[in-house]
Amino acid sequence: MEVGFVTGVAVTLFSLILGSFLNAILYRYNTGRSALSGRSCCMHCGHRLGVLDLVPLFSYAWLKGRCRYCFSKVSWQYPLVEAAAALLGLGVYLQTPSWIFFGIDFCLWLTLLFIVVYDFRHFIIPWSALALVAVLSLAHWYLAGWGGWNLAAGLFLAAPLLLISLISKGRWMGWGDGLLEISLGWLLGLSAGGTAFVLAFWAGALVGIGAILLSKRYTMNSEVPFAPFLILGAGCAYFLHVDFFQTVASLFL
Ligand SMILES: [Zn+2]
Repeated sequence: MEVGFVTGVAVTLFSLILGSFLNAILYRYNTGRSALSGRSCCMHCGHRLGVLDLVPLFSYAWLKGRCRYCFSKVSWQYPLVEAAAALLGLGVYLQTPSWIFFGIDFCLWLTLLFIVVYDFRHFIIPWSALALVAVLSLAHWYLAGWGGWNLAAGLFLAAPLLLISLISKGRWMGWGDGLLEISLGWLLGLSAGGTAFVLAFWAGALVGIGAILLSKRYTMNSEVPFAPFLILGAGCAYFLHVDFFQTVASLFL
């Protein structure tokens, strides 16, 4: 797929708009409200939002993060998710070989972004999101023409997490983390997937220790969402092509 500047800008703007839809889904998921239909309202005063209030990133910056009608603060989650979606769209565009690959991988990363935010807020990963990630990563595996070895990689990488969940009956680690890791293995394969896994553990341990040392609210027994770290590690492997095992192998072979 040829990469062009104008197409790149168009993809980024399109991703920005998808990011603001993702925000709407994030706030309405499991609240009984339809995720996509119905007008957007201010969370505090309930005033209907106009077109000028809903321009991704721009509205937040222009209104300085406040509602235009009641001046209450708007969550920084909105611009953050919008910017993240735009970066993901551009990042996927820059490295996928075809538009169908782009479609599948971008949907996959948007779902992973949903999981990151949802897990941070609610300490749980919705089953529907896990199922969607599994289907999309299988589609990626199929399109990439990878063999059975990569299917096994998913199970192999997830085994330690699933074992921890099994032993602790889901108390030390939720089942969602292991199930997510199966899909990430299908997406990345054993070598890059293994690197992503190692990065996730380092990042998780660093943040965990930091949180315990710096904040009195956290103890060793605090619930820490691990899925965001797994996804962060996968992002380093997918977008930045970090692959420890490949690097080590290339030094010796
Ligand atoms: Zn308001």
